[in-house]
Amino acid sequence: MPDNSCFSQLSLKPELMSNLATLGYEQMTPVQAKSLPQVLNGKDVIAQAKTGSGKTAAFGLGLLQNLRVKRFRIQAMVLCPTRELADQVAKEVRKLARGIHNIKVLTLCGGVPMGPQIGSLEHGAHIIVGTPGRILDHLERGRISLEELNTLVLDEADKMLDMGFQPAIDALVAAAPVSRQSLLFSATFPEQIQSVASKILKEPVMVKVDGSENHSSISQYFYRADNQQHKLEITKALLLERKPESCVIFCNTKQASFEVADYLADFGFSSLVLNGDLEQKQREQTLVRFANKSVSILVATDVAARGLDVDKLDAVINYDIAHDPDTHVHRAGRTGRAGEQGYACSLYLDRDAQKLISIEEYQNITITDSELPALNASQPVYKPTMVTLRIDGGKKQKVRPGDILGALTGKGGINGQAVGKINVFDFCAYVAVQKSVANDALKKLETGKLKGRTFRVWKVSQ
Ligand code: AMP
Repeated sequence: MPDNSCFSQLSLKPELMSNLATLGYEQMTPVQAKSLPQVLNGKDVIAQAKTGSGKTAAFGLGLLQNLRVKRFRIQAMVLCPTRELADQVAKEVRKLARGIHNIKVLTLCGGVPMGPQIGSLEHGAHIIVGTPGRILDHLERGRISLEELNTLVLDEADKMLDMGFQPAIDALVAAAPVSRQSLLFSATFPEQIQSVASKILKEPVMVKVDGSENHSSISQYFYRADNQQHKLEITKALLLERKPESCVIFCNTKQASFEVADYLADFGFSSLVLNGDLEQKQREQTLVRFANKSVSILVATDVAARGLDVDKLDAVINYDIAHDPDTHVHRAGRTGRAGEQGYACSLYLDRDAQKLISIEEYQNITITDSELPALNASQPVYKPTMVTLRIDGGKKQKVRPGDILGALTGKGGINGQAVGKINVFDFCAYVAVQKSVANDALKKLETGKLKGRTFRVWKVSQ
C-alpha cells in the first residue's frame, strides 16, 4: 500500500514544506491525512478531532496555503471557545508560518483589556484567532472588516455552542463573504452541531478518525468506591503507587475539586485546583506551573480544563465519573498523546451504574473492576523535580525567553540543561528550573540584569 501520510504528497507551498521539515513534522497525523487533501482542494470540511490530534495544522496549513501576504487584510478567522485555546492555536499557526515572511496573526479574546487589541488592529492582520464574542464586538464597532475573509474555522465547535457562542458565531458568519471556505472541528457531534454546520458549511466533506487510531495507547482502569471518603483514599493511593509526573484529576463540581485538593494538600502533595473560581491571573499561573512540571497534580473541573495544553499527560484520574460518555472519552484522551503510553483511572460509586453502562456502549468495551491500590502503604509523597521562578518583567519590558535563559546560564550561572519551560507574558515571566539549582538560579536572576535592569524575582510556592 502506498504511504499516503507523508506531507510531501500534498501540493503545499515550498516555504511551508521546508518549514515542516524543520519542525520535525514528517508523517501526517490521522486527522491531517484525512482532512488536509480536502482542505487544500478548497472543500468545506467537518472534522472530528480532539486536542492533541494535530487538528491545528490540519486547518492552519490550509489557511496559510491560501494566504496572500501582500494583501494586508483579514483573510482567515479562527473562532475558539477559550482564550487558552486561541493562544495555543495562534502559537501553532505562527510556528507553521515561520517560512513565510511578515504574516501577522492576531489574537482577539474576551476577558482581557480592549486597548491593546485596538492598537494592534490599527496595524492590521492577515489572520485573526479569538473568541466569538470579542471578535463580534470589534466588528460591530467597525474595527475589523471581514469583507476579504476567505477561510473561516470553527475550532472546538461543540464547546463554543456549550458556552453559548452561537448567536455571536451567526452574526460573524453573516458578515463574512458567501464565497469562502469553512472548516469545522469538533470533538463531539451533538445534534446542535449538525444544524449549525448545515447553516455555515456548503456541501461539507465529513472526516472521522476512528477512536482506536487516536487512543490506542490509553489503558483504562475502574475502581469501585464505597463512598466519597473512600474515593479520596483511593485517589491518594493511586498517586502514591503510580507517581505520575503529570496528572489531571477530574471532578464534576467545583466543590469536589476543592475537597480533593485540600485532602491531597493535607498529605503534602503538590497539587493545584483549576476551576471556575480562579481569576484569570491565577488560572494563567496554575496552567504555567502545571505545564512546566513544577506541579504534578491538577484537580480540575471539565469546563476549567478546556484549552489545557500539556504534552504527554501521564495520567488522568476521574474522581467523579463524567455525566456523559463523551466527556469521559475526552478526559481520557488527554493522556497517552502522540503514541505515548497513558492511563485513565476512574472511580465510581454504585449510583454511577447507569453512567458506566453508557460508557461501555459508547466505547464498546466491557468494564471490569481493577484491584484497589494498597490504602495504607506508607510510601513517601513524591515531589516534582522542577520549581517555578516568577520574574516581574515581561513583553512590555522587552523581556524575551532568550534573555532569561542567557541571564540564568551566563557566567557563573546554572547549566542550561537545568532550565525548563519559559513563559513570557505582558508584565511577568515564569521559568522552570530544576529544584537542585533553584536557589542558585534565583540568586543569579536577582543579582544579574535582564535588558539592563534588575527585576524582582521569587519562587512561586504552594
Ligand atoms: P493539536 O491537536 O493541533 O493541538 O496538535 C498537537 C501537537 O502535535 C502540537 O504540539 C503540534 O505541534 C504537534 N503536531 C501536529 N502535527 C504534527 C505532525 N504531523 N507531526 C508531529 N507533530 C505534530
